[in-house]
Formats: sequence, C-alpha cells, structure tokens
Amino acid sequence: MLKPRKKTREVKVRDIGIGGNNPVRVQSMTSTSTVDIDATLRQIEELSNADCELIRIAIPDRRSLEAFREIRKQTDVPLIADIHFNYRLAIGALEAGADKIRINPGNIGDKKKVLEIIESLKQNKKAVRIGVNSGSLEIDLIDKYHGVTSQGLVESAIRWVNYFTENGFEDIVVSIKSSSVIQTIEANLELSSKIQFPIHIGVTEAGPLLPGTVKSAIALGTLLLQGVGDTIRVSLTEDPVKEVEVAWEILKSLGIRANGPLIISCPTCARTRIDLVSLVKKVEEKLKSIKYPIKVAIMGCEVNGPGEAREADIGIAAEPGKGVIFKKGKIIKRVKEEEILEVLMEEINNMVEGG
Ligand code: SF4
Repeated sequence: MLKPRKKTREVKVRDIGIGGNNPVRVQSMTSTSTVDIDATLRQIEELSNADCELIRIAIPDRRSLEAFREIRKQTDVPLIADIHFNYRLAIGALEAGADKIRINPGNIGDKKKVLEIIESLKQNKKAVRIGVNSGSLEIDLIDKYHGVTSQGLVESAIRWVNYFTENGFEDIVVSIKSSSVIQTIEANLELSSKIQFPIHIGVTEAGPLLPGTVKSAIALGTLLLQGVGDTIRVSLTEDPVKEVEVAWEILKSLGIRANGPLIISCPTCARTRIDLVSLVKKVEEKLKSIKYPIKVAIMGCEVNGPGEAREADIGIAAEPGKGVIFKKGKIIKRVKEEEILEVLMEEINNMVEGG
C-alpha cells in the first residue's frame, strides 16, 4: 500500500519547489557536451517538452562553465550545475545563474573549500544537492564499515548535511545513490528516518533501457511506496528523454502523479481477435500529445477485455473483427476493426476537451 509521503522541508529551485507539499518532481540530465551550446539547448527543450521539471548539466571545466553562462541566458528552465572536485567551478556556476548545484562534498578537497561554496550559496540564495555516491564514498567510511555499505553512505550524507546546517545553510536536497537496487533502498529508507530535508532518489549507473528501467522501477517504486522520495531521476544509458518517460511511467503506475494517459493493454495470445499490437502502437503514438490523465484500456478479446475496458475511462474489448467501445463503464459503440482507431481517438479527444 502507498504510504503518505514523509513531510520534508521545502527547497525552491527557481520556480519549482522540491519537498514540502510539492508533488514528486521529475528530473534528468543533459548528455550533450556542455560546450556545444546549441545541442545542449536543443536537448533542454526536448527534455522540457517531455515534462522534465529540473535539468542538470555537467560542468567539468572552465570552458563548460562559460558555455553554461550562455545557456543560462537562453532558457528559463530550472538548471542544476553538476560539479565534482573543483569548488571554484561550483562558485562560478552559482554566479553564472545555476538555480541549484549538485556536489559530492567528499570529493571537493577540504572543508574550507566546501565552506566557500556554502558562503556562495548563501550570497546567491540558491540550493544545493549533497549527492553521496557508492562509487566515491570517503575512505574513512569504507574502512569503518569494511567496504561500501548503506550505513557508510548514510553516515557520509549526514556528516555533510550537519556541516552545511552548522554553517547556517538549509536549502539542502540530499541523495544517496548506488548501482545496487537493494543498497539504494536500504540507504534511502535509513536516510529518510534521520533527516527532514527533501530526498532525491535514483539508481546510479542503472544501465541500458531495459535493465535500467527495471532496476529504477523496483528501487524507486519501493521507496515511493514507503513515502520516501521528493524528486526522482532515472539514469539510463540512453537519450535522457527516455529517462523522463520512464520516470513518469513509474509515478503514473503508482498513481502518484500523471502527465498524460495511462494505457492498459493485454499481452495478446491465441485468443486475440484483432491486430492489437499495431493498434496499441498507433494509439500510444497519438496519445503522446495529450497531457490529460486518462486511463485507456485496449484489450484483445472477451476474456478479460470487457472487465478492463469497463474499469478504464475509455476502452475497447475486441470481438472477431470488431471492437466494443466502453466509456466510463458502459458500452457506447460496436465498430469494425478498421474503424476502431478513429472512433477511439474521437471519443478520447471528446473526453479530454470536456475536461
Ligand atoms: Fe489473450 Fe484476451 Fe487476455 Fe488479450 S485479453 S491476453 S487476447 S485472453
């Protein structure tokens, strides 16, 4: 059962709130070279069109920082600068207009440099994500826990959260990421019981589309069901737009948030009465432009078809060469197979326009 979301402190990133009473936010990261300003801006637009609410950009060097300055001028999307190792780049990104920075304080060098970042965050009134990662846990914690463990990851995160708060800064989002699904779940559950700051959840280096989607769905799904997670990122070795699509599907499947229709369709079998696979693909394509949270069922026969179609906002259950169209639980039409797509879309559009 879905537990209520744990109440966390709200952190503002431009006009988007994370935590507090805000919905679970969807974010991703550009995969272009940051110095290629045009390509990065194009990808920001594609991500934004796919309902990505916060976009992270890696700033590995000075040239990228200069490109970031230009990118910032050309878009209003909330931008997060991703910085490792170099505190001057972090401060530069804040001065260049980053709405939030993501750092792993453990790899910044020493505490004085982290303190300079904190001062810059205060001056610029921006937020930070303290991002602890299983691939870069501090050595003393690896020694203490005999390897990279969820306890070590949580201790690292808390250690840095305390350092920021002791120095008077609280606009903090925290993440603990691991490439292990179990470790991600364990560490984030533990973290959530110990802090009031919003938590960014994700499985790091999750892999290509299929395994990455499965790992992310299990880890993020489990955490969200427990009420943990204020913003999510699905990491895939893929076009980042796919990351955003998968993230939204995870939220939709749990009934947490929707940015468009939810399709219920059967896997097909020897009983399938029509060419269901191609029909579902066509409907899926046509529904991409619809932002209305409507439940659409497309079912291949009379076994489970009428039940699912009746439960959906709109649905079809196939009969030999025909489709029975259901709307809000009632049969409204029987149409020939070749007319199903047109009639179904007409009915969906009527429902969407009617609100
Ligand atoms: Fe097969 Fe009918 Fe189930 Fe589809 S709904 S998988 S066609 S039994």
